[in-house]
Amino acid sequence: MQGGADPEVQGKRMAFEEAEAALRAWMERSLDPVVVHRAGRVVFANQAVAGLLGYGSAAELLGVSVIDLTHPDDRERVRARIQRMLTHQEPAPLVEERFLRRDGTAVPVDVLALPIVFEGKLSILVSGHDARERKWLEAEKQRLFEEQARLGAEAQRHAAELQAILDHQLAGLIVFDRTGRVTMTNLATAKLFGSQASELGATLEEMFAKVRPYRPNGQPYALDELPSARAFRGEQTEGDNLTVADAQGNDHYLSVSASPIRDEEGNVTSVVSVMRDVTEMVEFDRLKDQFLRVVAHELKTPVAIMKGYAQLLLRSPEEAASRRMLEKIDRGADRIDRIVRDMLDLSQLHLGNVTIEHEKVELDAVVDRIAQEMARSFERHQLKLSARPVVVEGDGDRLGKVVGALIDNAVRYSPQGGRIEVTCGPRRDEAVVSVKDEGVGIPADKQARVFERFFRAHTDTPNDYGGMGVGLYLAREIVRRHGGEMWFESREGIGSVFSFSLPLGGER
Ligand code: ADP
Repeated sequence: MQGGADPEVQGKRMAFEEAEAALRAWMERSLDPVVVHRAGRVVFANQAVAGLLGYGSAAELLGVSVIDLTHPDDRERVRARIQRMLTHQEPAPLVEERFLRRDGTAVPVDVLALPIVFEGKLSILVSGHDARERKWLEAEKQRLFEEQARLGAEAQRHAAELQAILDHQLAGLIVFDRTGRVTMTNLATAKLFGSQASELGATLEEMFAKVRPYRPNGQPYALDELPSARAFRGEQTEGDNLTVADAQGNDHYLSVSASPIRDEEGNVTSVVSVMRDVTEMVEFDRLKDQFLRVVAHELKTPVAIMKGYAQLLLRSPEEAASRRMLEKIDRGADRIDRIVRDMLDLSQLHLGNVTIEHEKVELDAVVDRIAQEMARSFERHQLKLSARPVVVEGDGDRLGKVVGALIDNAVRYSPQGGRIEVTCGPRRDEAVVSVKDEGVGIPADKQARVFERFFRAHTDTPNDYGGMGVGLYLAREIVRRHGGEMWFESREGIGSVFSFSLPLGGER
């Protein structure tokens, strides 16, 4: 058969030629470098290869040895790969290879190679991609990744530092985001409100429902009057007074300031609220006022009495009258003396100057001695004493003062006289002392405050028998410093029993 006239073969050849033309067109236009080599020589190269390897045109590469174009260190590998492809007639996996540019420098290329039939002969098509870009991207990705990790760690460290700083602040702090949810808070806040009420994510409404603050005058706050709520409306508030009860039910006086935080457009994006617990300051102020009132009031009476009688004495020639007046002056001086001693005891206690001796004390003997001593000046009262032997450890002098203070109160607050019953003895694993009177008693609504400093349950009533309102406070402090407790029962118009207990102090 001449000229291959078989139409089927001819058809295939035409299809093959068309396919090769299409491949050639694609290779020429490809932006990636493409080379075809056969028997170790370049038979096709596109413009991209010429560009990559620094040749003026693709034609300059034709006939050049592929091995010459390869970096000397990679040549062995390339030879073996070509061999493998030709033997097994299969594509080689993607690898990175270094090519030599015309100026002798090397350029890394990601290379894909496969055997093809080109121009009717078994050849190898090599398509590549400049690996520098990939490497740069990979390096950049790694760098960004590391940078991100570093920033993340730094942010975490900053957050931990900030939280530690906030937690060491005495002031409570809450930050709300624009939706009114807590995004930051500290230990002081948790202590004030309980950790539940101010936990992260809680809303202002939820906190308000749990905390229920009120004003110093007892009026409850409305939600939209709260400093934080006002800050959300753009107001800056400073030093508002709020009272809240803590988890244990104790009142705390807070001085609260709240500020809006705005974005560039001036919209409120969050609110910072700072709370100072000023309970101690408020309490101190209250005590100071009360102290001054009590001192002034208590000193006024005896001084007026003493002055009055002294003036009368100056004018009166009668001896009997003088004696009565001198007695009154003497009593006035006693009252002042008592006030001064109370004040001294109180300041000593507060300066921490009270050292409690630790000796074995026969408590019954102390009670007996003090009660008998005081009963000597009873005019309208009868002492009933029952002291059973009991030993405690502590300071006999100070415990004697405690017993004395209770008997003194029993006498003063039962001006009509009556029985003063003093008992002392062991009860279970404690020593208990009680002083019972048949006096005026303490009104039920005042009883809770009787041990407070300067609190006087009968001020400005006919039953006000003078005093600073510190005797019981001091007495209970001394008992507590011995590891004991003091309490009382009282009914108005019937009388009172004041008692204290101390841990037993062993054998006599
Ligand atoms: P004061 O110096 O005022 O007596 P205290 O601290 O001893 O101070 O007592 C505080 C208040 O408790 C008194 O002012 C009085 O109202 C009340 N009180 C103390 N003891 C008795 C008692 N035995 N009977 C009635 N009231 C008492």
